[in-house]
Amino acid sequence: MFVERSAGGLATGLQGIHAQAETVWVGWPGDTSRLTDEQRAELTRGLDTMRVRTVPLSPAEVARYYDGFANGVLWPLFHYLIDRVPLEAASWETYVRVNQRFADIVAEQAHPGDHVWVHDYHLCLVPGMLRQRLPRLRIGFFLHIPFPSGEVFRTLAWRTPLLEGLLGADVIGFHTASYRRHFANSVGLLLGHRVARAARGDDVHQIFVNGRGVALVVAPMGVDAVGIGDTARSRAVDAQAASLRQPGTRLLLGVDRLDYTKGIPRRMLAFERLLEREPALRGRVRLLQVAVPSRERVDAYRQIRRQVEEHVGRINGLYTQGAAVPIHYVYRSLSEAEVIAHYRAADVMLVTPLRDGMNLVAKEFVAARSDLDGVLLLSELAGAADELDAALLVNPYDINGVASAMARALTMPVGERRARMSSLRARVEAADVHAWAQRFLRHLDEAPARVGPSAATPARRLDDVLAALRSAPRRLLLLDYDGTLVPFAARPELAAPDAPLLTLIRRVAETPGTALHLVSGRRRADLERWFGQLPIGLHAEHGLWTRWPGKTSWEMRPLPPDTWMNVIRPAFEAWVTRLPGSAIEEKTASLAFHYRETGLLDAPEELRRAAEEYARWLPIDVLPGNRVLEVRARGTNKGAIITALRDRGELEGVVLALGDDTTDADLFAALPPEAHTVQVGDVPLPARHRVDGVEGARALLERLVVREEV
Ligand code: UDP
Repeated sequence: MFVERSAGGLATGLQGIHAQAETVWVGWPGDTSRLTDEQRAELTRGLDTMRVRTVPLSPAEVARYYDGFANGVLWPLFHYLIDRVPLEAASWETYVRVNQRFADIVAEQAHPGDHVWVHDYHLCLVPGMLRQRLPRLRIGFFLHIPFPSGEVFRTLAWRTPLLEGLLGADVIGFHTASYRRHFANSVGLLLGHRVARAARGDDVHQIFVNGRGVALVVAPMGVDAVGIGDTARSRAVDAQAASLRQPGTRLLLGVDRLDYTKGIPRRMLAFERLLEREPALRGRVRLLQVAVPSRERVDAYRQIRRQVEEHVGRINGLYTQGAAVPIHYVYRSLSEAEVIAHYRAADVMLVTPLRDGMNLVAKEFVAARSDLDGVLLLSELAGAADELDAALLVNPYDINGVASAMARALTMPVGERRARMSSLRARVEAADVHAWAQRFLRHLDEAPARVGPSAATPARRLDDVLAALRSAPRRLLLLDYDGTLVPFAARPELAAPDAPLLTLIRRVAETPGTALHLVSGRRRADLERWFGQLPIGLHAEHGLWTRWPGKTSWEMRPLPPDTWMNVIRPAFEAWVTRLPGSAIEEKTASLAFHYRETGLLDAPEELRRAAEEYARWLPIDVLPGNRVLEVRARGTNKGAIITALRDRGELEGVVLALGDDTTDADLFAALPPEAHTVQVGDVPLPARHRVDGVEGARALLERLVVREEV
C-alpha cells in the first residue's frame, strides 16, 4: 500500500528527531472510510513499522471536531475574527471526546518519565488529560497559531477548560513574545494564577498551577533552510523558474492556503489600486496567485473562494491588455519543488495575511533566494514579522499602503534588495526548523529543574506536623495575613477578616502553651482595628512595628534615614498618573505601588527597572509582591521579628510559620531549620511544606484546635 508522508514544515522539522530517537508519532491518518477493513489493517501494519500510531476519526467526528470546533471556532477566534465564530457551536463535546481519545492512545504508549510533545489548537485538552492519567509524564505543547489578546480570548465560551487543558503541560511554546504575553494575561485574568517573569537573561516565564510550574517559552518555528536551498539550486527548479518568468514583465507572487486569514482579497484590491494609479505598469506587471485548496467542506472556505475568484475575474476584465493578463490564478496544490520554483521566479513575494501564527511561506521564499534577489513584502500581523523585520512590512488592512509598498518593491534598487535579503537569510538560516525542534525539546528536558514548589504536602505528613505541635508543651505560631489567612481583595481595605477567621484565631491563641503572632506587611492601624482585642502579637510593616501580646502600645525597630522616600515618591506618583487604577500606599519605612486594579499582572517593566536602579545607590530593597511593588528601607524585613523573639527568650517550643509571598521567605530563612515552615499557595518559597491556598491554611489551623478540644 502507498503511504504518503505529510508535506509541510512541521513534518519536516520533526522527521529528523523521529528518525534518530525512539519516538512514536501519534496522529489522525486522514479519511480511511473508503478503505476496506483489510486495507485499513494493512495501513495500520505499514504505519506500525514506521512507529506511527493512528487515531481514526469517523466522518461525523471529522465534521464536528476538526471542521466544526477546531477549524470552525478556535481558528477564527485565535485569528481575531470573532464574527466568523458560529452563533452556536455545538461541537465542544466532540472536541473533548476526540482529545480524550488522543490522550488515551498516547497514555497506552507512554511510560512514566517519557516526553510527549503535543501540537496545536486541535489538541488543547490533551496535556491536562495526560497529566491526570500519568502525572509524571513530561508534557510539552506547541501552539502554531496566534494566541489572541485576553480581551478576544475571553469571549470563548469554553475558555476555562481550554486553559486548564493547556496548563497540564510542563512547557508551552509560542511563536512570538506577544502570543505568550496574551496567554499569560488570559491565565491571570481568568484563572487567577500568578506568572513569574523570566529572570534576566532567561527566556522562560513560569506559571504556578497547584504547586506545579508551567514554563512558557518563545520558540519561533523555522524552515528547512538547507533543504530548500538545495532544491532551489537544482537544474529542474531552475528550468521551471525560467519558464514562469515572462520577458519584460515583473512578477508579483502569492502562495497561500485559500484561507480567509491570508488576506488574499485585500491583496488583490491593493494590486488593482496599483494598476489604477500607475498606468505605466499595466501590461508590465503580473500577479501570480497560487491558492491551495483548503477545508473545502466548510462554508466559510467556499465563500472566500468565490470572493477571490470574483476579484480575479473583475480585475482581469478591467486590465487585460492583449495577451497580458494581470492576475494568474492557480487553484491547486503544488509539489514542494514547484513551490520553490515559483519563489525563485518572483520579483516580489506578497505575504499579507490579516493574522498568521508564523507564516512559513515568507521564510521559505527567503531560504530559496540564494541569488540574494527578490523583495519580501510582509504583513506586520504575521508572526514571522517579528524576526523578518528586514522585509517591507505592511499593514494588510491598509489597501493604499500595500499598493504603495508594491510600487516601492518594484522600484527598489538592486543594492537595497541584496542588503535586505542578506539580512533576512542570516536569520532564516540561523533559526531553522531543526534548531527550533531541538530548542523546544531542550526546554522540555530542563522542565523538571524549573518546577517550583512541590505538590501539597500529603495529609499524612501534615498529621505528623500537627502531632508534633500538639504534643509540645509550648508552640509558637507565626502567621502571615494577606494571601495566607484571607484571599486578596480588589483593594487592601476590603480584605478584612471574616467572623469565622477571628473565632479561629482566638481559639488557637487561647489554647494553653500557644503564642500566636500575625506578621504582616500592613500598617499598624489595620492590624489594631481588626485584631487589637485578641491575645496575640501583632507585627506591622514587615516587622518594623511590633505590639507584643497583652500590650496596647507599639514598638518601632530602629530605622535607617528615610530621605530615599523623597526620590521614590515622585517616581511612583508619575506612574499613578499614567496608570489609571494604580495607587501609592505610604508606610513608615516603605512605599508600595499597588496595581491590582490596572489589569496588569506584572509591574510595568520600566518602573521595575527604575526601582532596581535606585536600589543600587539608595538604602532600599525592591520587593515585587502580589500585584504590588514595594520599596522598603533596607534591612527591615520579617526576619527581624525572629531576632526580637529570640532576644526575649520567646523563640521556643515547636514553631509553625505560614506565608504565601516572597516577604515571608525572609521570616522562614531566619527561623531555626527544625521550624515547620509552610508555603500557602503557588509561589515557590523555601518552605518545608505546602498547603493549597487560604483554605488549606485555615484547615490546618482548624485541625490544630479541633483535636485539642477532643
Ligand atoms: N505549500 C504546499 N503546496 C502548495 C503551496 C504551499 O505544500 O501548493 C506549503 C508551503 O510550502 C508551506 C505551507 O504550505 O510550507 C504553508 O505554511 P504557512 O505557514 O505559510 O501557512 P499555513 O498553511 O500553515 O496557514
